[in-house]
Amino acid sequence: MPGENLTRIEAAERAALIRVHSYDVTLDLTTSDRTFNSVTVVKFSSNRAGASTFIDAITDKVNRVVLNGVELDPAEVADNVRIQLPNLAAENELLVDAEALYMNTGEGLHRFVDPADNEVYLYSQFEVPDSRRMFAVFEQPDLKATFKFNVIAPKHWKVTSNQPTPAARDLNDGKAVWEFAPTPVISSYITALVAGPYTEYRSELTSADGRVIPLGVFCRASLAEFMNQADADYIFEKTREGFEFFENAFGVPYPFEKYDQLFVPEFNAGAMENAGCVTFTETYVFRSKPADATRERRVITILHELAHMWFGDLVTMKWWNDLWLNESFAEYASHLAVANATEWKGAWVTFSALEKSWAYRQDQLPSTHPIVAEINDLADVQVNFDGITYAKGASVLQQLVAFVGEDDFLKGVGNYFRKHAFKNTELTDLLVELEATSGRDLRSWSKLWLETAGVNTLRSEFTLDEQGKFASFAILQSAIAEQPTLRPHRLGVGLYDLIDGKLQRVEHIRVDIDGAKTELAELVGRKRPALVLLNDEDQTYAKIRLDQDSLAVALEHLSDIEDPLTRALIHGAAWDATRDAEWNPRDYIKLVLGNIANETESTTMQTLLRQLITVGRFYVKQSDREQVLAEIAESLLALAKAAKPGSDAQLQFTKFFTQFARTASQLDAASALLDGSLRLEGLTIDADLKWELLTSLVVGGRAGETEIAELATVDVTANGQKAAAQARAAIGDAASKLATFKLLTETKEYSNALVQMASVGFTRAIDVEVLRPFAQKYFESALMIWETQTFKIAEYLLVNLFPMPLCDESLASLSREWIAKPEIQAQPALSRILVENLAALERALKVQATDR
Ligand SMILES: [Zn+2]
Repeated sequence: MPGENLTRIEAAERAALIRVHSYDVTLDLTTSDRTFNSVTVVKFSSNRAGASTFIDAITDKVNRVVLNGVELDPAEVADNVRIQLPNLAAENELLVDAEALYMNTGEGLHRFVDPADNEVYLYSQFEVPDSRRMFAVFEQPDLKATFKFNVIAPKHWKVTSNQPTPAARDLNDGKAVWEFAPTPVISSYITALVAGPYTEYRSELTSADGRVIPLGVFCRASLAEFMNQADADYIFEKTREGFEFFENAFGVPYPFEKYDQLFVPEFNAGAMENAGCVTFTETYVFRSKPADATRERRVITILHELAHMWFGDLVTMKWWNDLWLNESFAEYASHLAVANATEWKGAWVTFSALEKSWAYRQDQLPSTHPIVAEINDLADVQVNFDGITYAKGASVLQQLVAFVGEDDFLKGVGNYFRKHAFKNTELTDLLVELEATSGRDLRSWSKLWLETAGVNTLRSEFTLDEQGKFASFAILQSAIAEQPTLRPHRLGVGLYDLIDGKLQRVEHIRVDIDGAKTELAELVGRKRPALVLLNDEDQTYAKIRLDQDSLAVALEHLSDIEDPLTRALIHGAAWDATRDAEWNPRDYIKLVLGNIANETESTTMQTLLRQLITVGRFYVKQSDREQVLAEIAESLLALAKAAKPGSDAQLQFTKFFTQFARTASQLDAASALLDGSLRLEGLTIDADLKWELLTSLVVGGRAGETEIAELATVDVTANGQKAAAQARAAIGDAASKLATFKLLTETKEYSNALVQMASVGFTRAIDVEVLRPFAQKYFESALMIWETQTFKIAEYLLVNLFPMPLCDESLASLSREWIAKPEIQAQPALSRILVENLAALERALKVQATDR
């Protein structure tokens, strides 16, 4: 990473000096397996003759640099990251001819060889600063331009970019050239190229302004049997529903010519909103039965990326400090569209269970930051694709909508798109439009919600008269000392009573609160109900605590509460109290295991089961941990056996059972499920489940390299490779762990996808003491990893290799010692990752102390 940074000041200076008009980029993808030839011709103007600037180009070799007809010596002006451009004219034409590197980290132009058929697949991933790995470019979002790509590739490939794919012109030797039309004026980070023998599915729709928009879905040929026409048709249907919803909600037609959605190998994120050419992780091509939570997540992701076509692609942030607005808006808008326009009506329950718990967790880390973050350079933004930027931002937009009203919000957003189409903006440009449509002053709201960090906690405080009616009722708001801001909230207060044995909402009261204590006259004189729920319907962003009586009622009747959002909120309150060491972790385990069989929402269930892993592995005191983990495994196996045949619950209980299995009889059960001697009616042990079962046997010491190699020869696929890498990393003896650690930290043998899987497998262990020697090694390697790996690889390693399962004071004090070192402090983004690891550990130690 060193030398590849770009500061906000440099970007601002460059934007003040130049205007970029057009790029004409010619790529020859047939030159070698390691590099490709990249020739960029860029036209731009400068407002100061004789001034100098630079263009970004991360290259293997620069062949030629020609500025305004003058050959510059690459040895003098280029350093493989930047090219200096001296003595600018008013109008300039620059040619850069370079050899660029294919990447295997998912950043830049990624090259993947399919193990199933040896075909080569390429795709680009440019956000944040990686278009410069494919062509010479002024790499910052506010230097928008048109981009014309000309691509030379093997004739049998499909070549896809932002503009519709033109007919290829044949060249010699089985090659062809695709000459795309120039894009509209867009930012470089949303340009794209996807190339290879992809399988393609076609459809179309009619946009609000009457244009026919061609639609495409693409996946690798070896995955076509799993994508198939039926699943592609489903994706087209969700896309049409999304188009109709957004075009109608924003009052602005889709801004590009076509819409392709491509499922690509070894993708680091869920998806990427390249204009008209969206890429998705292949985990969304379902070769094995997915949990309903995953099926829903895919739809939310499809509509998240579609929302970006307006928010982000048509109108783009000036600099990365407004990244949050891009992501929060897309998160908010996608849930709105999914809940209103698709069959996934429970999207807001999913939002509550998943997004909000992510936001609350992130917002309580020492590294938390205001939603509007200070982004001084590229390193700052790389670590900011976090729970604040996505989930808290979206939660706060949800609160903003409660404040200004959905109609005025969408009207304001539509005006914003019309006014700033194909340009760049800052936050105030949006607030101006929302103030105009809603008539509300958003300045102080923005200060309190967007420019300060931290989450508030809300509790009720009340007195009763002799008839059991409220004599007084107030909502108390608090904050921690480090983040003391109290905020105005518009929220619901839900009153629930037991009716026919079921806990049902009898009243929902909308209130505005502010400050440390707000008296609610609305509730005085009302009969106290069985349960009072603050933030009923989840409109605001705050942790809620239940009063003692309400808590007791909620816990007893949790699974017969009808409204799934209410259940999610109560689960959330219990989780927050556990994390805050106000509730015993054993009670939390009991609550989850006692109610989960009746949970109807797949994402809520998945969230609870993930939290169970955290509680079992980290929150229970050390001396009892083994026994508690075994008890959880026992319960999950029993739940799986008792679940409805073929149900989502049956699948989830089985999957999570593999995460806990440890006793002889549990490993016997895992083994029997794998070899088919134990069958659960309706449960297919498909390819991915096989790997999960095998990995649990590896962790349990019942299987090793032989069994892994055996399954890998049957499953010769990209998924098989990834799963095998994870299983190998989970082999539990000291020598194997050391080999894995060295492979990951000292070589670059593994691609991003394999690094990710193996680093997760590494910390899987029943006897966690095998990880002990790696505590010191982890810190000794941290700086080296940071300095020699790309950002994404470094992040996987530093997050996943941290030996958290040790979870004791000695690991904490070692962490503190290393974080304090000047060489670590000198790298703020690295230091942030280490600080977050430590914070999770310190929280765990605090919760452990309540487990007596
Ligand atoms: Zn996004």
